Amino acid sequence: MSFDLLEECGEAKRIGIAGHVRPDGDCVGACLGLWQYLVKCLPGTETKVFLEKPADIFNGIKGVGEICSDFPEEPPFDVFFVLDTSTDRLGGAEKYFKAAGKTVNIDHHVSNAGGGQVNIIRPDMGSTCEMIYDLLDTQRLDRDMAMALYVGIIHDTGVFQYSNTTPETLEKGAKLIGYGFDFPNLILETFYQKTYVQAQVMGRALMESIRFLGGCCIVSSIDRKTMDFYNVEPKDLDGIVNQLRNIRGIDCAIFMYETGVLEYKVSMRSSEKVNVAQVAAYFGGGGHAKAAGCNMTGTFHDCVNNLSLHIENELKKWETEHDERNNSH
Ligand code: AMP
Ligand code: MN
Ligand code: MN
Repeated sequence: MSFDLLEECGEAKRIGIAGHVRPDGDCVGACLGLWQYLVKCLPGTETKVFLEKPADIFNGIKGVGEICSDFPEEPPFDVFFVLDTSTDRLGGAEKYFKAAGKTVNIDHHVSNAGGGQVNIIRPDMGSTCEMIYDLLDTQRLDRDMAMALYVGIIHDTGVFQYSNTTPETLEKGAKLIGYGFDFPNLILETFYQKTYVQAQVMGRALMESIRFLGGCCIVSSIDRKTMDFYNVEPKDLDGIVNQLRNIRGIDCAIFMYETGVLEYKVSMRSSEKVNVAQVAAYFGGGGHAKAAGCNMTGTFHDCVNNLSLHIENELKKWETEHDERNNSH
């Protein structure tokens, strides 16, 4: 890759970094990993990160306290990095992207058509943090940066478990834990551990889940009233959709939560039979083949019916391809 992070920054006096709304582990890790790297390598440059407030589980990552979450007015940035997202999901940081002298988009979403002046889009990569690792000079890596990037890699690969994990992912993971941070605890606290209310809400979502399309798909939702009752925020609902997908016989799992009147945030996870990035794209969303999301309007049943049609198409497509392959053997 003929791309040098520091060269791209040139003589920049001010650099901005942003990721997507509702930042996940990969987004937070990539933004803070890159921020730490630029602060270390370009000490005369002012570098700022703009993100919605990350979940408390990420508080151990160096630089969390420096994140600007109130999106104040700022003079234009000379260089602006957009990480782990296309440029349409920046939320309050969009204005900095629009005003910046130069924009660089680094992402691994298959749905990203590349909205920066410089675009590095690698759908073959399991996480943006893995891409950042490849793009920086590993001689300058230190324990704090390694920890930030490791968080992103474990979150987007389900702790090296999803099919986006490659031998190279594991090699990078091995190098990163060599920096000596407490990785077992980091995995436990940021990935597996849930608060009591999170576990209760998850329990409710599992209990009230409904199977459809002959039992190979499952859906569950949490409404605003329930979120208020348990006093949970959207970030407390992470992990529910994965739990639904882990049920034997399920090819596609959907989890939805109410974001407004007749408005839902939809998360989808699937096996190889359903390309959920395609399904999400029909509704203006995106993501990866096996993990994608979108926002939808309508009643719960409207949303499920609309999604169901597209999921069924994906299942039929897979069966046709599968039959053709079987017949040709
Ligand atoms: P989530 O279900 O929110 O965990 O998201 C699953 C994957 O799809 C992540 O990689 C997200 O970045 C992506 N994604 C979720 N919602 C959207 C959306 N509305 N537009 C584009 N990508 C999305
Ligand atoms: Mn992300
Ligand atoms: Mn990611």
